[in-house]
Amino acid sequence: MLPYFTEHFGNPASINHLYGWEAEAAVKGARQILADTIHATPEEIVFTSGATEANNLAIKGVAEAYFSKGRHVITLQTEHNAVIDPCQYLQKLGFEVTFLPVQSDGLLNLNVLEKAFRPDTILVSIMAANNEIGVLQPLAEIGEMCRSHSILFHTDAAQAIGKIPLNVEALKIDLMSMTAHKVYGPKGIGALYVRRRHPRVQLAPQLHGGGHERGMRSGTLYTPQIVGFSKAVELAEAEQESESERLTQLRQRLWEQLSQLEAIHLNGHPMKRLPGNLSVSVEGVDGAALLLGLQPVVAVSSGSACTSTKTAPSHVLMALGRSEQLAYASVRFGIGRFNTAAEIDKVAQNAIATIQSLRKLTISPSHDLK
Ligand SMILES: *Cc1c(COP(=O)(O)O)cnc(C)c1O
Repeated sequence: MLPYFTEHFGNPASINHLYGWEAEAAVKGARQILADTIHATPEEIVFTSGATEANNLAIKGVAEAYFSKGRHVITLQTEHNAVIDPCQYLQKLGFEVTFLPVQSDGLLNLNVLEKAFRPDTILVSIMAANNEIGVLQPLAEIGEMCRSHSILFHTDAAQAIGKIPLNVEALKIDLMSMTAHKVYGPKGIGALYVRRRHPRVQLAPQLHGGGHERGMRSGTLYTPQIVGFSKAVELAEAEQESESERLTQLRQRLWEQLSQLEAIHLNGHPMKRLPGNLSVSVEGVDGAALLLGLQPVVAVSSGSACTSTKTAPSHVLMALGRSEQLAYASVRFGIGRFNTAAEIDKVAQNAIATIQSLRKLTISPSHDLK
């Protein structure tokens, strides 16, 4: 990224001089890397400021372009707020949105989706991987169902890119949101994949201006961030398979130790989840005390950073049918590229000791353990 802040500082949209060409070449290379990674073409990549903007562009852009065809959108109760909020905004504009429930393992039941399709459904937006509990939705089956009903399929792949294989052709995805900072890339850059053929997706721009990104997203491109984004994705892709196996082992190592405790629950499907995600709910402890107890040893969160300004219990855990108390007493462990088995053991020992000592302190009868 660094040379693009200093030596090669041109504007990729400046087509009349060398500085512009240098930047344009860098952006072109990055676009190609991203396209190759997801089996798309470079023209199908629209750079955005991140997945929030990509989700907004996909959902509002499709709604605006297709409203004369229909005004019904289908999504999940467990989506990120960057999908839920644009959908609620559409409701205010007169669209109808079905927020589908999930099973207790966090997965969508395909029969429930099939029943939700209507003649006026224009878009299905279902995430690839959940940001709190890590579950992987059945994208191939959903893509197949949407395609056979001629309904556009958008997926929020912010958590999935670089972590699991994503082939927009095989999965029949029409729009896909991505972001750099969940794969060790820079913050403030992402992209939306927008299918150009079979079918050609129409999208109403949400940022109007100079007509960049084929008119879908105006604004001067942020060259250093784009270069960093593609490099991060390239690195993650190169070791995706081996890293996936390594992280799955570390996750199992953590769960094997934690599950020796009584009354601790894994959130989300045990296997169909991101390799590095372990989300647990702990009975008989106060959520805030639990986080405080863990913090000296490990950086964990109860939900996601994106909802940390809200004090309500996680809407994702509530959708799994967890009680409010359990939703609060939940911890998401995220295991990544730089973690080792020794760290996992240290975290597990600390978590077990913390939970045991908190339970000894707890006197409330509602916290009785079986
Ligand atoms: C992080 C995240 C987002 C938001 O991405 P930004 O790039 O931070 O805007 C959206 N969806 C999911 C599932 C995420 O994990």
